Amino acid sequence: MERKMENTVRDVEADSEAGGEDALVGNVNKLMVSPPGYSGVQRKGHLVFDACFESGNLGRVDYISDFEFDLFIRPDTCNPRFRVWFNFTVENVRETQRVIFNVVNFSKTKSLYRDGMSPVVKSTSRPQWQRLPAKNVYYYRCPDHRRNYVMSFAFCFDREDDVYQFAYCYPYTYTRLQHYLASLERRNLPYLQREQLGLSVQQRRLDLLTITNSGHVNSEREKKLVFLTARVHPGESPASFICQGVIDFLVSQHPVAQILRDHVIFKVVPMLNPDGVYLGNYRCSLMGFDLNRHWQDPSPWAHPTLHAVKQLIVQMNQDPRVSLEFYIDVHAHSTMLNGFMYGNVFEDEERVQRQAVFPRLLCQNAPDFSFSNTSFNRDVVKAGTGRRFLGGLLDDTSYCYTLEVSFYSYMTAGSTAPVPYSEESYMKLGRNVARTFLDYYKLNNLIKDNIPHQLRSTDVMSQTGKNNPGRGAGIGRNTVDREKEKSVRH
Ligand SMILES: [Zn+2]
Repeated sequence: MERKMENTVRDVEADSEAGGEDALVGNVNKLMVSPPGYSGVQRKGHLVFDACFESGNLGRVDYISDFEFDLFIRPDTCNPRFRVWFNFTVENVRETQRVIFNVVNFSKTKSLYRDGMSPVVKSTSRPQWQRLPAKNVYYYRCPDHRRNYVMSFAFCFDREDDVYQFAYCYPYTYTRLQHYLASLERRNLPYLQREQLGLSVQQRRLDLLTITNSGHVNSEREKKLVFLTARVHPGESPASFICQGVIDFLVSQHPVAQILRDHVIFKVVPMLNPDGVYLGNYRCSLMGFDLNRHWQDPSPWAHPTLHAVKQLIVQMNQDPRVSLEFYIDVHAHSTMLNGFMYGNVFEDEERVQRQAVFPRLLCQNAPDFSFSNTSFNRDVVKAGTGRRFLGGLLDDTSYCYTLEVSFYSYMTAGSTAPVPYSEESYMKLGRNVARTFLDYYKLNNLIKDNIPHQLRSTDVMSQTGKNNPGRGAGIGRNTVDREKEKSVRH
C-alpha cells in the first residue's frame, strides 16, 4: 500500500510483543471515527466501530483518511502475544462508501491470506455469513508497521441502515452453544445426557454430553469409550462446527448412529475454554494461559475447566468397566488446507500402524480430510497438549489425536482450486468423523458386519443435516490423497 509520509510516524511502537498498542486491553465500544480535529455533528459515513459483544475483538481504530482505517486486534486477555481473531461491527455508513481496512498487528506471519483466505462478513439485512472475494484482500509486509504483516481489504458499503459485521472466521459463541445444548435437552432423548462438569474462572458452564444407549451395552463386557473435546483454543471456531456435526450425527435416527450408540459410549466436551470464547480471545483463557500447554499439571483455580476434564479422564482410565479408546481434541489451523490429524510417535511399530487406521478410514469417508497431511510427532513444545499427555497416560490400546481443520479451504481429488469451507461443510466433516467410528469398530470386530450394504459408504449424510449437499461423502472420492498415502506407510 502506498502511504503518505506524514502517516509513517504515527505508530512509533516500543513493544513488539504487544504489537505496539501498549495498553490495548479493551474492545472499542461504539467508537465513532471522524477526521482528526473534526468537531461538528456526526455525519453519515463517520464510521462507528464496535466490538463490545460476545466473542467480539477490535482494540483500536486509526483514521488514515475518509477511505482508509488501520485496525488493531485486541490481544488475548493477559497475554499480548496472541493477536489473530477479530470480530467487530461497523455502522453509520454511507451508501456506496468505499473503504480500505488494514488489520495491522497480527501476531503471526504465515497466513492463509496468501492462499486466498478472506474475512467473513454479514449485515443486518443479509444475516448469512459470506467470505469476501479474495481479490479484495491483500496480505503483505508493510514498511509503515515495522514490516509487520498487514491484511488489507477493500469493501463497499451498500445499505445505510445496515450494521455490518466482519470476522476472522464464522463465529461460534458460548451462547450459541448453550442454545444448541438446550435445544438438544428439550428433545428428551433417552440416549443423551447433559451435565455440568465444572465452571470456568468466570463461572461459565463446562458442559459434558454423554451419548450412548445405556440399556443396550452389554454390562459384562468392558465398554468402549470415545472422548471428544473442542475449543481449548477459543479463536478456533471451526472446531465448534465440527463438534456440533459429530453430536448431530450421534443423536440422529440414522441407522449408523443407532448402531454406534448401542456399542460405544461417546463423551463430548464441546467447549473446553468458555471464557476465552466469550472474551473473543484467539488462544488463551481469561488469565492468559494456553490451556493446551497445561495438561501435565492443571491447577483447579487457574485452569479449572482443564482440571475437571483431566480428572474425569484419569478417573475413567482407572475404571475397569470402561476402555477409553479414543481421545480426539478438535482444533482449527491457520496455515494449512484440509482436515488432518496429529498423532503420537511410538517405538512399537505395530502400535504405529494401528494408530494410522482411524485417519485412513476418515480419509475414505471425508473428501476434505487428508491422510497425507496427517503427521505423527513428539515435539518438545507440544508436551503439554491433551494428545501428548494422554498418549502417555492411557494404555497402548488407546489412540489420541488432534483433529485439525483449515480456517480456509480444502482440496479434493476433483478440484482444481481450493474449496472454501462453509459452516455447513465444517459440520459435515464432523458427521463424517462420527460415522467413521462404525468403520473402525467393524474392522475391529466390536460391531458385526451385518449392516445393509447401502448404509456402508455413500449418502450417509442424506439423512442428517438440513442442507444435504448430496453425494460426495462417499468412499472413492479421495483418490489423489490415497495415491499419496500409498507412499507414506502401509
Ligand atoms: Zn488449536
